[in-house]
Amino acid sequence: MIECDVLVVGAGPAGSSAARAAALSGAKTIFIDKKREVGVPVQCAEGIGEYLFPYLPFKIPKHLQVWKIDGISFWAEDITIERTGSNWSGYSINRDEFDKWLADKATNAGAKLMLETELIDLEVKGDYNVTKAIVKTPKGNKEIVPKVVIAADGVDSTVLKLLGFNLDLEKNAGYVIGFKMKNLKLEKPNHYQIYLGDFAPGAYAYIFPKSNTSANIGVGAIFFEKRLEECYEEFVNLPLIKKQIARGTIVEDRSGWAPIRYGIDKLNYGNVLLTGDVANQNFKPFIEGILPAIICGDLAGVVSSNFILKGEPLSNYTTYMENKLGNFFTESDRLIDTLYWLGKFPDKRGHLLRLGIFSNIFSLEQIHNLVNEDYTSLKSYLNDWDHNRKQF
Ligand SMILES: Cc1cc2nc3c(=O)[nH]c(=O)nc-3n(C[C@H](O)[C@H](O)[C@H](O)COP(=O)(O)OP(=O)(O)OC[C@H]3O[C@@H](n4cnc5c(N)ncnc54)[C@H](O)[C@@H]3O)c2cc1C
Repeated sequence: MIECDVLVVGAGPAGSSAARAAALSGAKTIFIDKKREVGVPVQCAEGIGEYLFPYLPFKIPKHLQVWKIDGISFWAEDITIERTGSNWSGYSINRDEFDKWLADKATNAGAKLMLETELIDLEVKGDYNVTKAIVKTPKGNKEIVPKVVIAADGVDSTVLKLLGFNLDLEKNAGYVIGFKMKNLKLEKPNHYQIYLGDFAPGAYAYIFPKSNTSANIGVGAIFFEKRLEECYEEFVNLPLIKKQIARGTIVEDRSGWAPIRYGIDKLNYGNVLLTGDVANQNFKPFIEGILPAIICGDLAGVVSSNFILKGEPLSNYTTYMENKLGNFFTESDRLIDTLYWLGKFPDKRGHLLRLGIFSNIFSLEQIHNLVNEDYTSLKSYLNDWDHNRKQF
């Protein structure tokens, strides 16, 4: 039996960041992951937005910012809109390398990492008070007795299931089919490319470059009227895409589930804090979860340690999170509600409306009036914006 102050389940960006913060603040911290190797396999398009850098608890070293992204090109119905500037720029990273760097930061701060260690059961007393965790390791099952548990075990969280929450992945998450490809002839290697159309029902397809000739390419959907594999085929056969990937080869499958809606309504149950994908802490429409997971994980780690060492309430985590990223989450929640609502408009006008929203040309306030406009008017609004470079 192992005793600790803080048990972090999961060594992704949220878990490693939480473990680092808890250990740095003085708590005896263990973080576990069922994987043999941190960060592998990669199930990600590997993009991070520069606008979130000021909120991070530490700097990301230059060598991990492997490819500079200057902006995003959005495409629908033969209109391309380019956005550049600090809200639209960022970097592509190597997730495996990045996640290992984060885990190293936690172990350097004094947290103990246990790999090939899977949470399989929890002893829970009273109101979500975890008194014991049973983990499966290559040397047999072990018991860990923590004072606080941080659930950072991703979109299909074992912690939440063991606490009795009925998770419905199909309802609260979206599946993304994605591949890393090489030997590409990218149109704009320093721009992310986002495509909207029938091939990505309610969502988008993407090309996220990692060099002049390699990229993560994929399709996500929030409505499932056709198989996502078909959507992907349709997307890669668009002339605009075909010419970029004609000689391309797939290096790796990077598909996976990404959270879209909240499966739970709180960030703190008893002595458990939820962080990262467990808590739907990503920003829509791009399901940008890496940096939010680091920022929120850090807060969860600090609060856990302060709870143990100074008696600070665990519920403060919610307040700190709202103070730091609340505005981003509010906007993101409104956006996803609007995207579901736009599902009522599955015609080509819907693609134009989404183009306007994704590229932030149409505000969420305007959209309820714009749905009454016809296709030609919407097209001319978007084209006019492109000529005048101003907010519509
Ligand atoms: C295809 C795809 C593309 C994406 N692209 C981007 C992108 O470009 N940019 C971006 O910012 N975000 C992107 N995301 C989202 C991003 O990957 C996640 O938001 C981010 O990984 C969340 O980090 P996390 O630490 O919460 O969870 P995870 O990274 O999922 O880490 C959870 C960890 O918990 C471990 N675990 C699970 N269950 C157990 C258990 N029972 N016991 C022990 N360990 C367990 C897992 O092995 C895993 O290592 C993408 C997601 C998908 C699916």
